[in-house]
Amino acid sequence: AHVQAPTTVKTTCPYCGVGCGVLATPDGQGGVAIAGDTGHPANFGRLCSKGSALGETVSLDGRLLHPHVDGARTSWEAALGTVAGSLRKIAEQHGPDSIAFYLSGQLLTEDYYVANKLAKGFLGTPHVDTNSRLCMSSAVAAHRRAFGSDTVPGCYEDLDEADVIVLVGSNTAWCHPILFRRMIDARQKRGTKLVVVDPRRTQTGEEADLFLGLEPGTDTALFSGLLVHLAATGAVDARYVADHTSGFDGALERAAAIAPSVAATAAATGLSEADVAAFFALFSGTERVVTAFSQGANQSAQGTDKGNAIINCHLATGRIGRPGAGPFSLTGQPNAMGGREVGGLANMLAAHMHFAPEEVDRVRRFWKAPNIITGEGMKAVALFEAVARGKIKALWVMGTNPIVSMPRADAIRESIKGLDLYVVSEAVADSDTARATGKKTVLLPALAWGEKDGTVTNSERRISRQRAFLKPPGEARADWAIIADVAKRLGHGAAFAYPNAAAIFREHAALSAYENNGTRDFDIGGLADIPDATYAGTLPLQWPLPKRGKAKARLFADGRFYTFDGRARFVAVQAPALAQAVTEAEPFVLNTGRVRDHWHTMTRTGKSQRLSAHRAVPFVEIHPDDAARLGVQEGDLARVSTPHGSAILEAMLTDGVRRGNLFASFHWSDATASDARVGALVRGVPDPVSGQPELKATPAALTPA
Ligand code: SF4
Repeated sequence: AHVQAPTTVKTTCPYCGVGCGVLATPDGQGGVAIAGDTGHPANFGRLCSKGSALGETVSLDGRLLHPHVDGARTSWEAALGTVAGSLRKIAEQHGPDSIAFYLSGQLLTEDYYVANKLAKGFLGTPHVDTNSRLCMSSAVAAHRRAFGSDTVPGCYEDLDEADVIVLVGSNTAWCHPILFRRMIDARQKRGTKLVVVDPRRTQTGEEADLFLGLEPGTDTALFSGLLVHLAATGAVDARYVADHTSGFDGALERAAAIAPSVAATAAATGLSEADVAAFFALFSGTERVVTAFSQGANQSAQGTDKGNAIINCHLATGRIGRPGAGPFSLTGQPNAMGGREVGGLANMLAAHMHFAPEEVDRVRRFWKAPNIITGEGMKAVALFEAVARGKIKALWVMGTNPIVSMPRADAIRESIKGLDLYVVSEAVADSDTARATGKKTVLLPALAWGEKDGTVTNSERRISRQRAFLKPPGEARADWAIIADVAKRLGHGAAFAYPNAAAIFREHAALSAYENNGTRDFDIGGLADIPDATYAGTLPLQWPLPKRGKAKARLFADGRFYTFDGRARFVAVQAPALAQAVTEAEPFVLNTGRVRDHWHTMTRTGKSQRLSAHRAVPFVEIHPDDAARLGVQEGDLARVSTPHGSAILEAMLTDGVRRGNLFASFHWSDATASDARVGALVRGVPDPVSGQPELKATPAALTPA
């Protein structure tokens, strides 16, 4: 059933936010040959280890192929009837806001759009959030505070054209490998200098011209010190600041209170004065600087301030919207950007609109929505806390594995048991999230990469196609089609009568242009009438792409922003402080992150022996001095614990982590290892602005196991 004729199909890698173009050639027997797409502007034919192993991950082993209700296989008719009937009953008894959706940066834009529309326009619940909350919502919030819009100003070509690239909280060499190759190429071609800011000396740090191994959570001190230095040395572009920004004096005053000098910056960050001075000189003396920031900055209880501290330095120097210059958010997931575009986050409505009354009314009219929401819903951490409190009665999880990846994952697993309705749309039969049960549990088989059809948007605002090259296995269906069928059963069939993914994309594009007039950044009205054949054939394209006007690789080149007065905002950031201090009982700072060859909870990459060989067992990195003090040797098993849970991990001794720090990867689950879910250990204090939880600094204990 999974066999398709051997024709090469152009598609997009489903892993990281680089969004590489892939050529997939099915072998006619369920397998597929994979190559990089030389015509795709994200990768020009290159693929990293994960992308090139995609062919090893498309087998049907472990797939969810049929609908199930309460553990028993059933028909689509019965499963969807159960979902729709239960949703209706729960909405009547407890109100629509007792229903929540937890979506995923793995969903295609079309799936995301339809889920968001059903929840926010027709069911009338605002509680729609996504695993992108864990990925880059602090970058979204920082963009909005500074620019008045969630806009990534630059493009990948800026990495080719920069003279200095500053990487903040990013193991780019492992997590965005093809972009890292571009940076290394730039170094070879034009002598680009790489500065890496990270408490952990990763593979990326090893390649740096200047590695700044600062203390966890002190990034805002570093960039506050830089802002002070720029002002003190005449490196501020006073004309740009006067003409295009506001709030500079307040931001500078706050920065001077945090890090008034090189010496104070060094003291606040744990760096040497020489390294701080070298960084400041390099940044201030170079016009073409890109500062790329990723999860190390975002996954923090002060993540939004970290983003704004970085953006402040670019605004102060006018280095934004120009070739080779700008702040650049490196997105983790393949379609985190598409999720932002449709409004998949709880604090957005749709098409980069929020909850101003005219925006709510505009979306209501466009959708002809009977139950449009009027305000923000709960963000991921609060949403799952509401499940635990019994406030949320029905939860529909699509394409993500929160029982592994969310902070306090054990508590989340426990809370699921109290749900009146628990729906999981999944490609995988045995994920930890699919194993969990509520009072009524429905598993819905979804199409996987290679089978589904739609679009994704990468970190540089480039919309690419994921195309099907394998036949749908078993009874698996597209997520959007599943949602539309539930909508139909709830009496909203006319608004969800989509013949195909292209029709959904056209509606999404039309909404982006609806009463826009250049007032909103996200405008792809130029694609609102795209015929099916063109949708099938011509993407990738970068947005904005308005009906009248051209696509733009860079925004803000004219110094106009999407605030009411057109000026960018400096933000006065808070002094850095970890949300939780270490204690005698939990003396280590636990940092979490990825490894090179696995993706998220390993439901796909775990199928590849080649990828699994890179880091074969769940591990914890510890400094050799700390290990010696505790009597732990390389390869020993160690128990890492916090008040929220514990995991047994293999000790890896490395001076790449600071003394007093630990690093562990969140990839392993109960489905792939025993007692190794790192998400269970993490407290996850949310950033007050973005709601993104702190995943990088949880106080923890380590003992020999
Ligand atoms: Fe896929 Fe990212 Fe690797 Fe490109 S860099 S092949 S998008 S995992």
